[in-house]
Amino acid sequence: MTDYQKPLPIPSLESRPFWDACRRGELVIQRCDQCSAFVFPPRPLCDVCLGTSLSWTRSTGRGRVFSYVVYHRVYHQAFAPEIPYVVAIVELDEGVRLLSNIVGCPPEQVRCELPVEVVFERVTDDTTLFKFQPRPRSHIEGASPKERSPA
Ligand code: ZN
Repeated sequence: MTDYQKPLPIPSLESRPFWDACRRGELVIQRCDQCSAFVFPPRPLCDVCLGTSLSWTRSTGRGRVFSYVVYHRVYHQAFAPEIPYVVAIVELDEGVRLLSNIVGCPPEQVRCELPVEVVFERVTDDTTLFKFQPRPRSHIEGASPKERSPA
């Protein structure tokens, strides 16, 4: 794990709780205490009502591919063994969008609207990254977000 060569996130004051949660295997996002909007990326102000009181809430970790690209070219040598790989914008069920990778399936199976769920990859002692993989079909059919019981 110590020979991890790819760039690592550098947590800021605002994003530290997010990365700490990833290390615990939880995906958390901020929610405005005033207007209930979900807020991402982490920030000190609600971008809907400018409220300054935001609370961390645990996400379902489920969403859909909003957009994606397949990288066939090496832009950083540490990624060379993974070519081709998918960089995607995932829209969570809560409505916020995160930039991540789609793993667990060949790139040609990725498409917009593909239902995905978060997975965590511990890459160093201090850093756990969040990625997304396709959801098993049994978890999708007949289960709209409103029908799911709260976790
Ligand atoms: Zn707000």
